[in-house]
Amino acid sequence: MRPFDYQRATSPEAAVRASGPASMYHAGGTTLLDLMKLDVWRPERLVDISGLNLGGIERRGKALHLGAMTTMAELAASEEIRRQCPVLTDSLWLAASAQLRNMARLGGNVLQMTRCTYFRDTSYDACNKRNPGSGCAAMDGVNRGHAVLGVSDHCIATYPGDWAQALVALDAEVELLGPDGARRMSFAELHRPPGDRPDRETNLRPRDLITGFVIPDADFPRSGYLKIRDRESYAYALASAAVALRMQGDTAEVVRIGLGGVATTPWRAKEAEAELTGGPITEDRANRAAEAAFAGAKAHGHNRYKIELGRRTLVRALLQTAAMEG
Ligand code: SF4
Repeated sequence: MRPFDYQRATSPEAAVRASGPASMYHAGGTTLLDLMKLDVWRPERLVDISGLNLGGIERRGKALHLGAMTTMAELAASEEIRRQCPVLTDSLWLAASAQLRNMARLGGNVLQMTRCTYFRDTSYDACNKRNPGSGCAAMDGVNRGHAVLGVSDHCIATYPGDWAQALVALDAEVELLGPDGARRMSFAELHRPPGDRPDRETNLRPRDLITGFVIPDADFPRSGYLKIRDRESYAYALASAAVALRMQGDTAEVVRIGLGGVATTPWRAKEAEAELTGGPITEDRANRAAEAAFAGAKAHGHNRYKIELGRRTLVRALLQTAAMEG
């Protein structure tokens, strides 16, 4: 690991002041320290924000406010949130390992980096995300885990998280503090599709600090997260679906869908939502919605199976969620 300067921040404002062009914020460290040890990230300064008073889970009417320093384990263990909006807790329980959930904070969780081997192994030169303009070794390489939605000719890396699919489905907002003060951004705008700049992962401005999340309507007892992976624990999604429904009798009045494991960003499946809104959730209609969700999918060889797997995952998640009490 390369030498770096270390500063412990005593307030969010002090953290932003201490940050700079070659610095990174350090909280749980579960992504940052891995990538520093692999020599992929080379910050000259770490600003330690782990001690900041930015934790907490708070209901304000229908809205849910979550501090960025809340750990994954704290939110996953909330029985109250599980009753009100299980997609928010299920997607965390199915992520990472117990040790990682105890360390990783919600703010860092949404910014975790792709598991693309060619990104994480610096012996490969061709990676537009790590070395802009160098090419993409995954296009003609081993790409079984790579994305089929939101891809570009420059990068097909999969967004690896789980909780973000729930946030994008629930129209969450992210609270930020930057050099110009505090502001909010729609969670759907946080991550950028790769386009011709895969190295630009997010729409955060330099020195922005994530301070929290707001879910304006977290009242979805009929919601859940289905994750399909190579093994049933401590593995990334091959395909996943976060689904939240509000039913009036057999009619789906509100349908929210986020897809994971198959896309370059936390993926909102609006076409599928439109197929289902205003009617019952039957197998036929769920299949049509899944077709719509993957109509624009593009495979690159080994990952072709993800189109069918993604469709089936969504159909199963929809039928399971519709069968819940709510
Ligand atoms: Fe790099 Fe993206 Fe290609 Fe992976 S898929 S090698 S992250 S450019």
